[in-house]
Amino acid sequence: MIISEIFRSVQGEGTRTGLPCIFVRLTGCNLRCTWCDTAYAFHGGQKMEVDEVLARVHELSSLHTQKENGAAPKKPKLPLVELTGGEPLLQPEVIPLAQKLLDCGYEVMIETSGERQVSVLPREVIKIVDIKCPDSGEPDTFLMENLDTLDGKDEIKFVISSRRDYEFARDFTLQHDLASRVHQVIFSPVHPDPAGSWQGMNAHELVEWILQDELPVRLGLQIHKFIWHPATRGV
Ligand code: SF4
Repeated sequence: MIISEIFRSVQGEGTRTGLPCIFVRLTGCNLRCTWCDTAYAFHGGQKMEVDEVLARVHELSSLHTQKENGAAPKKPKLPLVELTGGEPLLQPEVIPLAQKLLDCGYEVMIETSGERQVSVLPREVIKIVDIKCPDSGEPDTFLMENLDTLDGKDEIKFVISSRRDYEFARDFTLQHDLASRVHQVIFSPVHPDPAGSWQGMNAHELVEWILQDELPVRLGLQIHKFIWHPATRGV
């Protein structure tokens, strides 16, 4: 598999925000969102075997897998791993990687656009699905049958950059009763590009709209962009 980076940080988004987490970023994406903040992962990267990735995750988690006298392996010290990209589901090796991580006792999350089938993954993997709104430039890419795979441990995210995006996310959330299907629906305002390539969405305005419509959703901010400079990689 082709890996862009593997690093340790705190989870920047979703309901596990702030928790220490190991990130495995896979190279390549088939979409081109206008506000993509990880375009550096479209190309390049390093070829690694699944077991090499696993070993690196163990290293970052300080997990020692050697069984002593047949004793069970120790639990990972840092048990949360996120598989991300790019689009991690473009590489089939992500499936055995997820299974091996689960077998070693990690809690495994995957961040995906939902353009590919998520049912190929082990059920225990927590799916964070980023359904694209119109102003992303990649609308209608979400595979609707994925809704039937998602369940009460999963999260659906909408990244919102305009009123048009908000109305799309609101209508989709209500029409498909997303709040009762998944653990949490998250509306996240686009963070402005530090280089000025795209504008951000005003979080105050988004909060007002959510409250006005009494939506069963959570506001999501990307805390890593407040802790570090928004262009910083590997955090
Ligand atoms: S799907 Fe994700 S990685 Fe791909 S272009 Fe969109 S934001 Fe970037």
